[in-house]
Amino acid sequence: MIQISRDIFKAKQILENENLVAIPTETVYGLAGNIYSEKAINKIFKTKNRPFNNPLIVHLHSKELLENIAQEIPEKAKKLADAFWPGSLTLVLKKKESIPYSVTAGKETVAVRIPNHSLTLELLKQLDFPLAAPSANPFGSISPTTSQHVADYFTDSLELVLDGGNCENGIESTIVGFENEKAILYRLGSISVEDIESIIGPIEIINKNDNSPNAPGMLSRHYAPKTKTILSENIEDEIKNYPTSKVGILSFKELNLNNVNIETEILSSNGTLKEATANLYAAMHRLDKKGLDLIIAEKFPENDLGKSINDRLERATKK
Ligand code: AMP
Ligand code: MG
Repeated sequence: MIQISRDIFKAKQILENENLVAIPTETVYGLAGNIYSEKAINKIFKTKNRPFNNPLIVHLHSKELLENIAQEIPEKAKKLADAFWPGSLTLVLKKKESIPYSVTAGKETVAVRIPNHSLTLELLKQLDFPLAAPSANPFGSISPTTSQHVADYFTDSLELVLDGGNCENGIESTIVGFENEKAILYRLGSISVEDIESIIGPIEIINKNDNSPNAPGMLSRHYAPKTKTILSENIEDEIKNYPTSKVGILSFKELNLNNVNIETEILSSNGTLKEATANLYAAMHRLDKKGLDLIIAEKFPENDLGKSINDRLERATKK
């Protein structure tokens, strides 16, 4: 039976025994194991039911450790790390020989970041190895942003979730890689394209590829509720098409719907994209538990974090 606790010492013991612990980060909860333990890495894939061709992100507590993980670090990568670490930016870099191919899914590159969460940074400092940690959810399902989400997914298959409260940013990290020193954005995430570009200038976005997923987040169906979910530009109109269905609404701001039977999740009370992003997955989890026939999600404005939210909603609503 899974335990929810703030016991870093216990987490350390479990990880040193080559087992897994769910850890809080500012993006989503991660399912963490020692990057140098084949046993732990295998368990990550098995527990999540994650395809082996989907590489993992390596988590560090300090920039000085990067030289043990990656080589030939491009100038732009250094600038981005200086600007955003600790934080929700993952860099894909040429891997050091010592990084196991099980972590990188056979690639010569490795994904790495420093998470911005005090409990997890403290845990990482106490370990003498970095942690590989994909999101702590079964492959393809909604990512966890609370310790309870993790406990619901892995009641019997995980010993401990380290409780660090609600994830502050609430969606996955933004992933940036390099092809011949040219920066490429592989996954939209909780740092906006505009913020990345303010540091290194215009960046190409390549974030959809079903055949050879560079990043699992690139699969066109991902982050999906079990309930049928559709995306709409106009909820007030859309809802008229489902007069007899039990419908749930996921909307950015307050709507004028005078139908008491509708379950509504307003993602932001103050109308900010930052707050909407932080609430997105928890709202999806709540609606998914209500036995609805349909969830209608509102399309967000295509700027700033709205782009990242639309990316997740599109993948959640793809058949
Ligand atoms: P998640 O399950 O959300 O933590 O996903 C981890 C993300 O990092 C995935 O989208 C990975 O594919 C991505 N990633 C890890 N390693 C690499 C790599 N070598 N090249 C490209 N993306 C990577
Ligand atoms: Mg994931």
